Amino acid sequence: MGNFKAILLICDGMGDRPVPELDGRTPLEVANDVNMSNLALGGECGIMDPIAPGVRAGSDTSHLAILGYDPFVCYTGRGPFEAAGIGMDVRQGDVAFRCNFTTVDSNMVIADRRAGRIEEGTAELAAAVNGMQIEDVTCYFKESVAHRGALVLRGPGLGAAVTDTDPHEVGAKVHDARACCPDDAASAKTARIVNQFVRKSYELLKDHPVNKKRIAEGKNPANIILPRGAGVAPNVQKFQEKYSLKGAAVVETGLIAGIAVYLGMDVIEIPGATGGLDSDVMAMGKGILNALADHDFVLCNVKGCDIAGHDGDANAKLAMIENIDKMIGLLMEEAGDNTYIVLTADHSTPVSIKDHSGDPVPIVFWGPDVRVDCVQEFDERAATRGGLLRIRGTDIMNILTQLMNTQEKFGA
Ligand SMILES: [Zn+2]
Repeated sequence: MGNFKAILLICDGMGDRPVPELDGRTPLEVANDVNMSNLALGGECGIMDPIAPGVRAGSDTSHLAILGYDPFVCYTGRGPFEAAGIGMDVRQGDVAFRCNFTTVDSNMVIADRRAGRIEEGTAELAAAVNGMQIEDVTCYFKESVAHRGALVLRGPGLGAAVTDTDPHEVGAKVHDARACCPDDAASAKTARIVNQFVRKSYELLKDHPVNKKRIAEGKNPANIILPRGAGVAPNVQKFQEKYSLKGAAVVETGLIAGIAVYLGMDVIEIPGATGGLDSDVMAMGKGILNALADHDFVLCNVKGCDIAGHDGDANAKLAMIENIDKMIGLLMEEAGDNTYIVLTADHSTPVSIKDHSGDPVPIVFWGPDVRVDCVQEFDERAATRGGLLRIRGTDIMNILTQLMNTQEKFGA
């Protein structure tokens, strides 16, 4: 291990736009966040486009970019990261999907997209379809939380440019997956396999004892599996190999955990980290400090600000920022003076939009020997005056590893 350590703290969806009910200021501008201000005072600030200026980033593509993996190269869909996140074996070239257990009638018309938000028996249902062989492809299926699961297809010549089978609408018929482009034989093969998998899942599940019991209890049966979000498992260099840093992740959502697992990072579970507005953020801070003892780099994603943004709730966002601020105080105090702290967001989720926007987010690098600039507050507007100016997500690990002195020189 090198001499320096680093914490990369991503506040999901924290960036915002001027909010009328906050007198035209953003939640970050209004928040009582003395520790974030101290990071700005003693650090180097700027604004950051997670993917590129104006591009509305998803949390998955943004985290890939921030960790130095170009999403335009390694991301074709959410499936592989979802599957890795629930502990499935995902290998380069596999095509993976996220799935719902769903309720359909005998005409394949959707009655309940989430099968009554089924809680029990999903492992038995998964076992009934797992390992199915269709042509020369093996279909691995695993349940995750409630009605969710993931499907991994392994076999030669598969593509991921296929349409979803889930019509996303009650009363609509299950869609046939199709190749997005008619002369893409690999994706046409995937579509053919997926359509058979969906039909067979119905045959295997409709009279399964778990579902007979549900029907007897007046609940919606989980009688079909609908895959969506196809992606090819990319060939990526593991995080530790790429940076010579041993990495850990303290994160709240399965999707980000899946990315960390896929990159070979250790995912650390924190009791009380719910991924909601009630999450125990301070416990996450302690988890980061524990992880730092035997790792060089800890990624942390705190989800709450994004939820408040999607809810359009400026006050909830403010409260979450202030919670995170207390946790940052703990990190600044306890992490040790050989530790860098990078604070940013993975995208903006403005309360006025209730969804991700393409606005850049503020970023600060704090730690030994950074070129301290004149910025004294951590927010969207103050950070524009910082020494980093405007960077992209894929710049972050370069900037950090040259500070940590672990980066190879490019050239002589
Ligand atoms: Zn996000």
